[in-house]
Amino acid sequence: MRALVKTQAGPGLTLMEVPEPAIGINDVLVKVRKTGICGTDLHIESWDPWAARTIHPPLIAGHEFVGEITAVGSNVSDFHPGEIVSGEGHVTCGRCRHCLAGRRHLCAHTIGLGVGRDGCFAEYVALPMANVWHHWPGIDEEVAAIFDPFGNAVHTALAFPILGEDVLVSGAGPIGLMAIAVARHAGARLIVVSEPNAYRRDLAVRMGATVAIDPRERDLHDVQAELGMVEGFDVAMEMSGVAVALRTAMDNMAHGGGIAILGIPTAEITIDVNEIVFNQLTLRGIYGREMYETWYKMTVMLQSGLDIKPAITHRFPYRDHAAAFAAARSGDSGKVIMEWAER
Ligand code: NAD
Ligand code: ZN
Repeated sequence: MRALVKTQAGPGLTLMEVPEPAIGINDVLVKVRKTGICGTDLHIESWDPWAARTIHPPLIAGHEFVGEITAVGSNVSDFHPGEIVSGEGHVTCGRCRHCLAGRRHLCAHTIGLGVGRDGCFAEYVALPMANVWHHWPGIDEEVAAIFDPFGNAVHTALAFPILGEDVLVSGAGPIGLMAIAVARHAGARLIVVSEPNAYRRDLAVRMGATVAIDPRERDLHDVQAELGMVEGFDVAMEMSGVAVALRTAMDNMAHGGGIAILGIPTAEITIDVNEIVFNQLTLRGIYGREMYETWYKMTVMLQSGLDIKPAITHRFPYRDHAAAFAAARSGDSGKVIMEWAER
């Protein structure tokens, strides 16, 4: 099969022939149809310090996909060839306290698809049956391909109650964009988006933002005043990984507000804990998706009218992976999809 492989320590990914993955008795083999490019894949491609620390080549990259089951292990009875599925990219140990309690997103021994084991930028991907999500009928195939980052958006957006609340979204990358639509669907009142990139600010408004501001030009306190807000934001979603964005969010919260932090900083961030104490803020880290409550929520929200499709802006055949990665890296894009269906 063909696959996009990190062949050695250093920049680049190579499209090459590799053996189809073997499956064990508990595994499912999936013929990949569509994949999404994540920031993680960009880090792996460019071989930044995180990738150099984390990735052990050779490795097939990629963890966002939809595909069709072609084979199942002898122990697998819930999945069958021909079914359309996506994969939960966090392979958990199954044996720790949290896994046994059904809180698999809290497993401390998580291995990432396309990070710690071969991923889905390939014609076939194998994964444990416990990581397979069977799509319900009627789910759009492109949307199905990005259930993994969509799940990050849902997990973050629903971390605090948002019905009727005023919400700040810092960073309108693909995940921030989807989170805006989720917050709108879940009944937020005002959704203020802070994003330096103009292309993404336009998309943010399309996804349902009340207003999208450039943090280099506008002070959020002024924006609050213009919108008639008096107490500050009830909920913030930190989706940029940028220090100043987190601090600005903390400065603009209502007392008792909640900040769900998904963005992954590249360095330590200094914050004023006085703000947390005296304003009684809750800062909550979000990693991955809840298995499988988030997946269920994604599905039922799509069935009740949530539309995240405008967040998908680019599509490429897998052969044009370099162009696909360039589009994802440019910033003037939402989600970028690669098609694997035909050779
Ligand atoms: P992205 O890098 O495409 O989006 C980040 C956005 O933040 C960009 O559009 C950027 O222009 C914007 N930004 C930069 N400076 C800003 C500032 N000062 N204020 C506001 N916005 C600013 O990333 P993404 O794919 O949408 O993912 C969002 C974040 O979540 C990233 O940090 C990513 O690493 C992280 N992530 C976390 C998890 C998890 O499980 N915790 C999973 C996936 C991604
Ligand atoms: Zn575990």
